[in-house]
Amino acid sequence: MKKKKLPKTVHFQITSKCNNNCKHCFGPNKNNPDMKLSAIGKMIRIITDGGAENIHLTGGEPTLRKDFGPILSKFKNAGLGIFMDTNCDHFFENEKVISQNVQVIGLPIDFSNKSWRNEMNLKNVLKVLNFYKSKKFKPKIRVLSTVTKENIDDIVNIGELLKKYQFDVWRIFQFLPLKNSNAEKNRQELKISRRDFLLMKDKITKDFSALFNINFVPIGYRNKAYFIISSHGKVMIPTENGKCENKIVGDISDVDIVEKWSIFGSEKNFNNSTQEIFDLIK
Ligand code: SF4
Repeated sequence: MKKKKLPKTVHFQITSKCNNNCKHCFGPNKNNPDMKLSAIGKMIRIITDGGAENIHLTGGEPTLRKDFGPILSKFKNAGLGIFMDTNCDHFFENEKVISQNVQVIGLPIDFSNKSWRNEMNLKNVLKVLNFYKSKKFKPKIRVLSTVTKENIDDIVNIGELLKKYQFDVWRIFQFLPLKNSNAEKNRQELKISRRDFLLMKDKITKDFSALFNINFVPIGYRNKAYFIISSHGKVMIPTENGKCENKIVGDISDVDIVEKWSIFGSEKNFNNSTQEIFDLIK
């Protein structure tokens, strides 16, 4: 029987650490340990042998790793395409290594005039957008917005703000109260219904779809889709129907990790959820 292959893109929480502590965050527990550089080297061999072609870095905040540059070089030398989400707070300390290695960068805008992250964050994000405005060669840019009860009336103003910038896609997520995250703790304050998300979607589509490429992600869209490697090597899959959690299915070093992932994973959902990035880089 033909051995199953890894998904084309694996998501990697390169660190669990972050300089912020956002109330809507569904990132990992900050106490999770991070893999050492040597363990990441082994992980790269496993995923490339398994057929992965790209790595999508999330966190925590990827640029907080002191060995961020050497890690990116390892991914690049292994022939992996690199996608990365960053809060932009430490972008300019890492600009060269990002611009030279990352194909697709995701940056957050959740309000038109402030940020959940810290007082400087929105300025930092806009500075990155301004910086790339004048660059001929730059990563593809995804602007990421998470919609909650607190900012749902401001999404249209974010659209107005974005008219001043150049980017490739605006990806708008429904607030996700993932188990054991800040988002779960603050779910009563922030959660919105699917109906409200879809009403917002209609309004934003009407107002901005002629101007930008917009991509909406309601709860359930990522269900059984991603192959996520935690900062300490656990392989997780999002389950968003009923319980909202990242279910651990095994460890990246397990010889049968793809089979374990496949029990819960859906290749079709995976392809749907990741297609927008491939549309950007094709
Ligand atoms: S949402 Fe992003 S910036 Fe905020 S705590 Fe989570 S990982 Fe950090």
